[in-house]
Amino acid sequence: MRYQGWLTWVTLGLAVAFVPMAVDSKPAPIQFGSQINQLVERVDPNFNKTTQQTQQRAISTNETPIESIVQNRQLSRTYYYHFDTNVSASAKAVFENAVAVYNQTGIVKLVPGTGTDRQNSITFFVYSKQMPSSGGTTMIESGHGGPQIIQQTGWNAYTANHARAGLNVYYPAAAIRKSVAIHELGHALGLDHSRYRNSVMYPVDQGNTALSAGDINALKTIYGTGAK
Ligand SMILES: [Zn+2]
Repeated sequence: MRYQGWLTWVTLGLAVAFVPMAVDSKPAPIQFGSQINQLVERVDPNFNKTTQQTQQRAISTNETPIESIVQNRQLSRTYYYHFDTNVSASAKAVFENAVAVYNQTGIVKLVPGTGTDRQNSITFFVYSKQMPSSGGTTMIESGHGGPQIIQQTGWNAYTANHARAGLNVYYPAAAIRKSVAIHELGHALGLDHSRYRNSVMYPVDQGNTALSAGDINALKTIYGTGAK
């Protein structure tokens, strides 16, 4: 009986610890129907697969993984960012705070504007999505974001990242947060989910507003060598 009582306590404890989850989804499909000559690759939206890969790759270090479609690309370190028209002033301010965090690294350079097709860009957006609840538990999706690699081959060859980062304003208390914007912008820049809680790329919001050493190393890997 004592043993059963202990088991019950543990189960309840875990339930309490994990109920208020704010997670994100991988990016929603983006339409590029008219750009026939360009090769568009999309991020694998399979969260579980990515998490398994992350765990296998990062057993002994605190490395933050890089989204597979961004690996071994020659991407410029400069990004032009703009907001969708329905982004509120408060959400804009949160996104701007996230931009500042990445600019402070000196590794990437995010500047306001739309850029051209061959330049890197980030679109900040908001969306409203109510999550279904099951068994009394609601997994809140706080946002989504990711890279979108555009590659032109031939005489006019270039590779650019036309990325998106968004917050789910159906849950403003969970989503309109600097830590969430930093996470989604991290996806946009090519960072994948980390298994380490000190990383801004941990899949469940920890309130982190400072990049970990692993996060910074991953940015250096993508943008640090030979990037313009
Ligand atoms: Zn995420």
